[in-house]
Amino acid sequence: MNGTVTIAGGGLAGLSLACGLRSRGVAVEVHEAGSYPRHRVCGEFISGVEASTLDALGIRADFGDALLHSGVAWFREGRKIHEDVLPAPALGISRHRLDLRLRDRAIAAGGIVHERSRQLREPREGLVWAAGRIPQRGPWIGLKCHFHDLEMVADLEMHLGANGYAGLAGIEDGGVNVCGLFKVDRSRRAPGPELLLDYLSAGGNHKLVERLKAARADEVSFSAVAGFELGRQEIEDDFCAIGDAESMIPPFTGNGMSMAFQSAEVALDPLERWSRGSHPWEACVAEIRRGLRQRFHRRLRVASAMHPVLLRRGGRTFLEVLARSGALPFRPLLSLVR
Ligand SMILES: Cc1cc2nc3c(=O)[nH]c(=O)nc-3n(C[C@H](O)[C@H](O)[C@H](O)COP(=O)(O)OP(=O)(O)OC[C@H]3O[C@@H](n4cnc5c(N)ncnc54)[C@H](O)[C@@H]3O)c2cc1C
Repeated sequence: MNGTVTIAGGGLAGLSLACGLRSRGVAVEVHEAGSYPRHRVCGEFISGVEASTLDALGIRADFGDALLHSGVAWFREGRKIHEDVLPAPALGISRHRLDLRLRDRAIAAGGIVHERSRQLREPREGLVWAAGRIPQRGPWIGLKCHFHDLEMVADLEMHLGANGYAGLAGIEDGGVNVCGLFKVDRSRRAPGPELLLDYLSAGGNHKLVERLKAARADEVSFSAVAGFELGRQEIEDDFCAIGDAESMIPPFTGNGMSMAFQSAEVALDPLERWSRGSHPWEACVAEIRRGLRQRFHRRLRVASAMHPVLLRRGGRTFLEVLARSGALPFRPLLSLVR
């Protein structure tokens, strides 16, 4: 063994990669800008990850108590337009719990995790960039808050509105995560969870807002993020990036966390060979980039084409007409973004 793999970013991509590399005996150091546990803007609905990927990373046991979600219901401004069952159950677990578990697993496996350690974005041998979405001017704001005492209509509720969409999904301890992606509106300035309700109201989701007002918001869980672009991210030629730092699939797919794990899986073999000295760094980076393109190209293209449809009034009407006439190809579309 020679090279230590340095991972910038202790989110799902970075920590799961650290766990996977440690299970192969590779030395790893993770640098995380923040600390654990922490709430993150995320729908906390994990759909499309195979058990084989979690096994390859050595983290399957961390999902043993996750909720299993199968039923989905789509709403447009309060009207239910479609109900369906997922071909395979999705997992429900908060990032507050999951990220902490993965940190503990990485450390127990012999990895080193530095918290409050922000890395500089510069290509260097042995550095994997897993630092999530790239801060830049972007049209989106993501808002999330956990609620209690909230009755659900389905395991996953998706609510489309005039300014974006929000998903509701159960997490541990009877909580429901409410997470939305909206077009930024700088005139909206409400504090904490009220900002989420304000954006939902502005999009016409009044019924949902009434339900949330009758429930109990966990104010500490409120988080917000703005200033990012969806899709493939700008990456320097010889730079090794995985997870959201490489590409951000639109959140309506519920597939971003699965991609974080899958991108870590793609990186395992090349990084192990580099670490053992049998693979030059440039070849390792090229192999990872090729692997990510092959694995994600189709779903990113399809999701990027579908996303604007959800954001346009005409697109939502089209979807509603298809759904009401029973002609919405939900499962085929879902399989294209997996
Ligand atoms: C509104 C919204 C809803 C979503 N809903 C879902 C969903 O329901 N299902 C799903 O699968 N996906 C969802 N996603 C996507 C999902 O959250 C991401 O795809 C996933 O978190 C990516 O993991 P990651 O490890 O790449 O990045 P992150 O989880 O963002 O982790 C990156 C880490 O890097 C750290 N960091 C940043 N900069 C530095 C630095 N310079 N040095 C060191 N550390 C640094 C950060 O603190 C962070 O901990 C959603 C996204 C949004 C915006």
